[in-house]
Amino acid sequence: MMGPPGAGKGTQAGRFARERGLLKISTGDILREGIKAQLPVALRAKERMDRGELVDDGTMVAIVRERLLRPDAQRGFVLDGFPRTVEQADALDQIVAERNNGPLVIVDVRVPEHELVRRLAGRLICVKCGANAELTKDGSPVATVCGKCGGGLEQRADDNEEVVRERLEVYERATKPLVEFYRERPTFRVVNGAQPQERVAHELDTVIDDAALASARVEKAVTGKVATPEKAART
Ligand SMILES: [Zn+2]
Repeated sequence: MMGPPGAGKGTQAGRFARERGLLKISTGDILREGIKAQLPVALRAKERMDRGELVDDGTMVAIVRERLLRPDAQRGFVLDGFPRTVEQADALDQIVAERNNGPLVIVDVRVPEHELVRRLAGRLICVKCGANAELTKDGSPVATVCGKCGGGLEQRADDNEEVVRERLEVYERATKPLVEFYRERPTFRVVNGAQPQERVAHELDTVIDDAALASARVEKAVTGKVATPEKAART
């Protein structure tokens, strides 16, 4: 699942995974897990991050591969935050092919920039527990204190408008080659993330099922095999 910061991709990825009984894999989570478990690749990544460097593609791929090869990922998985580069996308294709773990459905959650800026620049977080403040439809906070712990709310330090625009620009530039890489595939879909959450959820479910079915039809035409509905629902 792809999408810029503020598009609600993480929330949707979590919901979809829960409802379909799939594993949600975010690179941040598996990095933290791997470091805790003292996995050599994860420790290598940590060393780089501690030096302020980006984790290289080879290391990132090794970490994701290790996670995807475990038995609980075999029913299917939702990837959030991976791949970030064409090299990673290539490696993911190989992993999925090796494990006969497809089809790989790519969903790009798009939201116009002005809407992302509105969402991100107005974001309030709890000073005590760091939770995002719940907002009403017009973007104002539901309460003056944190709904989880009662702590005070303040605007995130890095969330002023200029910084937000810069972050979005960096994302666009970095992601463009990846979109180009996936664009022509029948399993690439775009979802309008600038709608109420339930509408986004519905659109997402629909396009994923449709893409999986389209891919199963292609597979059937090629091999004469009929993909099972369960397999077709994998993402
Ligand atoms: Zn709180």
